[in-house]
Amino acid sequence: MVPYFRPTRAEISLDALSRNIAAFRQAVPGGVRLMASVKANAYGHGAVQIAREAVRCGADYLGVAFLDEAIQLRNAGISAPLMVLGFVGPEGLAIARELNITVALFREDVLEAASTLPPSSKRLKVHIKIDTGMGRLGILAGQDWQSFIRRALQTSMIEVEGVFTHFACADEADKTYTKLQYDRFREVEEYIKGNALPIPIVHAGNSATGMDTPEWTGGMLRLGIGMYGLYPSAEVNRQRIELRPVLSLKTEIVKVKEVPPGWGISYGKRYVSGGTERIGTLPVGYADGYSRMLSGSAEVLVRGHKVPVRGTICMDQCMIALDGLPGLSPVQEGEEVILLGSQGGISITADDIAGKLGTLNYEVTCMLSERVPRVYIRDGQKVSVSNPLYGTPLD
Ligand SMILES: *Cc1c(COP(=O)(O)O)cnc(C)c1O
Repeated sequence: MVPYFRPTRAEISLDALSRNIAAFRQAVPGGVRLMASVKANAYGHGAVQIAREAVRCGADYLGVAFLDEAIQLRNAGISAPLMVLGFVGPEGLAIARELNITVALFREDVLEAASTLPPSSKRLKVHIKIDTGMGRLGILAGQDWQSFIRRALQTSMIEVEGVFTHFACADEADKTYTKLQYDRFREVEEYIKGNALPIPIVHAGNSATGMDTPEWTGGMLRLGIGMYGLYPSAEVNRQRIELRPVLSLKTEIVKVKEVPPGWGISYGKRYVSGGTERIGTLPVGYADGYSRMLSGSAEVLVRGHKVPVRGTICMDQCMIALDGLPGLSPVQEGEEVILLGSQGGISITADDIAGKLGTLNYEVTCMLSERVPRVYIRDGQKVSVSNPLYGTPLD
């Protein structure tokens, strides 16, 4: 079976992924566990394949945002320790326990529901979440978390495997607020240690923590964006960990034409040719995650040069300028185009695209939609393709 027909695809370098994981492993103190954050379809990289590869590379835990994402991984046969970082309600606890999925616990009613689970030979694993200043989930650091932890420990249906918090500003150069959060969390850690509570994993760090303040990670680094080869912000120290971007978005020119002066290009005729111009059409558009908001500012790589996208980006297609490119012959239909990635030594990064959109690199890869096949590459060879349009991933 042909895994996909349209030439648009995201290429995922498993070699880059494995080097990035190894780089973080080196950067954090020995004995610190690594959780690979594969929520949001592994930041657009393909959850099942990235989860498998991360485990192969020695990740100790997998993290997702909600229970359905965890169930997707269990359905794919992934048996590694797996945690839901976000909210799981009472109705999700029984299946989480059954599938050995760890949940974040911070609400009284959920603790109550856990204590009334029907009998089972398995215990529900939980990590208690403390809000030290993110203001999102967790028990406020100023509240009676001591009592919550103790009551959770006394609930026979659950196993309190961890306690954790999340930093709001770890990717900023100024660490004052992160230090404040860390100090609040240390109180929790000291309470656990001081009372010899049997809670093995007390954790705080994300990618930015691993890069800038690895000593504030606690017992497990929850590694997301850095694993995908992207820096959490412009302010983190890029010298300490060298990252390689994992994902490239590629396509091919499917139509080349020479338009006369004054020819309108795309919806709304927002671009009109000045003279005779060579224009190429690409089979990729905003429904693929190549945002229409990039119209007027997007660039792509052809023959190792940056060329502008012309006119409005359509749902499934967009047009590019082809004049002035090097080579003996004019650019042909079928030639490769890089929307995100490198060609001939120059790059268009997720940060470049994020800058044009006024967002973060995180959102750029998350936006890549399901209809873009993911092609996994190891040692320069395609090892698998995932195309959800055909149902189950084709390995
Ligand atoms: C997503 C997430 C992470 C990973 O963050 P990155 O900045 O991508 O490293 C860590 N912890 C929690 C709670 C998260 O939700």
